[in-house]
Amino acid sequence: MNREILEILACPIDKFHPLDLFECKTENEKIVEGVLYCKKCSRFFPIIDEIPIMLPDDLRDKKRDLEFLQACIEQLPQKIVKEALPWHL
Ligand SMILES: [Zn+2]
Repeated sequence: MNREILEILACPIDKFHPLDLFECKTENEKIVEGVLYCKKCSRFFPIIDEIPIMLPDDLRDKKRDLEFLQACIEQLPQKIVKEALPWHL
């Protein structure tokens, strides 16, 4: 994912913009793993293999989301790892 895409991304739940970006792994200026965070509804959206996964809650994969948080726990702030919606560690 390129950082420029942040300018057009909005939260799928409430359309809030801009989203906060937290980078966990980068390669050649691209974000391979990270999190997009919506301040308005406190939701996080994972970036996995360069793809931001921005789905409504009922289509999310809870197991994958939690494994992702666990893997990136060192790079992410507490508000995401321990408090973000729709679930956290
Ligand atoms: Zn939101």
